[in-house]
Amino acid sequence: DALVCLQKVSRVYGRGEAAAVALDEASLVIGRRSWVAIVGPSGHGKSTLLHLMGGLDRSTSGEIHLDGEELSRLSARRLAAVRARKIGFVFQFFNLLPHLTALENVQTALWFGGYASVQARRKGLDLLDQVGLADRADRLPGQLSGGQQQRVAIARALANDPDLLLLDEPTGNLDSVAEADVLDRLGTLHRQGRTLVMVTHSSAVASRAERIVGVRDGRIDSDATAEQTLLQC
Ligand code: ADP
Ligand code: ADP
Repeated sequence: DALVCLQKVSRVYGRGEAAAVALDEASLVIGRRSWVAIVGPSGHGKSTLLHLMGGLDRSTSGEIHLDGEELSRLSARRLAAVRARKIGFVFQFFNLLPHLTALENVQTALWFGGYASVQARRKGLDLLDQVGLADRADRLPGQLSGGQQQRVAIARALANDPDLLLLDEPTGNLDSVAEADVLDRLGTLHRQGRTLVMVTHSSAVASRAERIVGVRDGRIDSDATAEQTLLQC
């Protein structure tokens, strides 16, 4: 069963002489409950692919289906609603709000999901507990290690119970101990049935996924699975 389906998706930045083709008719099907790593050299379109899949950016041409909806047909408002309900994002530099505690950072996403504040506190603590940080709820990001900050970001990404987690270099800013910890958490989320798509430069990190998709010059140039041919959009 496909969760995400890209059909001949291109993304061109700029126009005329300055036009740059970041993605060039890339096609990719991602199954529900799978864990996919996207690898490839810097500047070859990996982040662009992830952003398009998550509705953070619009394609120049081609179709992107997420859970049966074609993203290019959606208004900005509908796209934002789909993003909020169905997708969790995790970035390399955590993107936590520095003046809010770990709990408050998670709660910002819950408020967006319409939680009343007493419920938000309980749910926020539950999410922090899932990443092993319930006892750090009142710390500011600056009082947490890099690995702990990324776990807070993961808890925040889970706030609206998304089907799909999109991670852009989630361990790119972590030492090897913190990296192993974050990867273990991702493994748990995968076993719980989440769909994970992560961009990484590291082949060690990629090897933790069950499928490795290579991107080069804006094209899918390798795919270590037969899934691509088995799954239908
Ligand atoms: P990767 O994630 O593999 O490093 P990106 O998807 O970030 O690659 O970028 C692919 C190409 O598109 C690069 O040449 C990059 O410079 C270009 N690019 C990405 N975002 C923009 C943008 N907002 N405006 C112009 N060019 C961009
Ligand atoms: P990554 O570390 O994921 O490869 P980058 O540092 O390449 O990310 O890009 C960070 C942000 O800057 C992204 O949102 C990307 O779209 C944008 N960007 C990348 N390249 C360019 C570019 N040549 N011109 C404008 N924006 C760019």
